[in-house]
Amino acid sequence: MNPIYFTAGPASMYPTTNEHIFQALQNNIPSISHRSNQFRSIYQDTFEGLKELLELPTGFAVFFLGSATEIWERIIQNCVEEAGFHLVNGAFSRKFYDFAHLLRKKAFKQEVAFGKGFQAEDINVHYKAEIIAITQNETSSGVATPVETIHQIKEKNPGRLVVVDAVSSAPHPIFDFTKVDSMFFSVQKAFGLPAGLGVWIVNEKCLAKSEILESKGISTGAYTKLTTLWKFFEKFETPATPNVLGIYLLNKVVKDMLAVGKEQIRQDTDLKAIMLYDYLRDSNLFDVFVEDPIHQSNTVIVANTRKPAKSILEALAQKGLIVSSGYDKSREQIRIANFPATSIEQMEILIDALQEIEEKML
Ligand SMILES: *Cc1c(COP(=O)(O)O)cnc(C)c1O
Repeated sequence: MNPIYFTAGPASMYPTTNEHIFQALQNNIPSISHRSNQFRSIYQDTFEGLKELLELPTGFAVFFLGSATEIWERIIQNCVEEAGFHLVNGAFSRKFYDFAHLLRKKAFKQEVAFGKGFQAEDINVHYKAEIIAITQNETSSGVATPVETIHQIKEKNPGRLVVVDAVSSAPHPIFDFTKVDSMFFSVQKAFGLPAGLGVWIVNEKCLAKSEILESKGISTGAYTKLTTLWKFFEKFETPATPNVLGIYLLNKVVKDMLAVGKEQIRQDTDLKAIMLYDYLRDSNLFDVFVEDPIHQSNTVIVANTRKPAKSILEALAQKGLIVSSGYDKSREQIRIANFPATSIEQMEILIDALQEIEEKML
């Protein structure tokens, strides 16, 4: 039996991914030059598709890097001269914050407990901060920051760059890109693609900031500094040989998502999330970890378990259902991804299995 992956990344492949990989190999995509018209048109097409899917206005560029982790580093190098400000509420937002120190910048943070989220009115941005870094979907805890909160933060801080990690939620959140200066994701989460591609979306304000840093003689990196990436983007090229296969596959899956309809995909995600949260709330084996409904993620759902999480994961695996372990090993938790790649039927299968396990264990 082919297992179904409800893991938070790498995750289940989008239903069309396998066929696109096969076609890519048939068409020798891994062998084409990244300085060819064929590549430039793949880049441009992917850019246009993402613009439509994410509702990007003009004035934004899309760059292809190796991972979201790499993008944390690029943002700090290119958009922070002295100091940044980070909202920290879990392992991923903390790493982004830690990177600032590793790159010898100042970083200030506002932190809430694991499982908690942020409210715009409670946020006090440090006066020195040049960027405000927000992890929209904290994959370790299943806490989401509502897009409205992010927009309000920008309204209160128009002079600072708002940078958003939407790695485990995009394309679900609908950002107002007049209030988000940079957003990024990697493709092995909600896009249902093989890992190895980080997608960095930036506006001209980020570009201007990196130009200021360069004019002051501050290093913004080497071959992947923002000014170089932008120059290459203008001709739909990349400074180094990129993951051409990954970009090709992203283009195909973005087109498939647009064919299904971006609203349909979001509705299905919301419906599957409601199904799962409803079950967990009524269950005697599980509890919903994130208490405040405003902060409950629709794409990564975390449950406390009243029996050892390990035994539940094993029981699920025996049924061919692969779910992520908890991120914080001091807690008994499981994490269930609810990405567009999994269908409503598959979510029903998972919930039935959880129910059966619950009956057996209690
Ligand atoms: C997975 C993840 C990352 C890291 O992505 P990589 O592609 O592995 O570098 C960053 N932020 C969040 C919120 C994530 O879930």
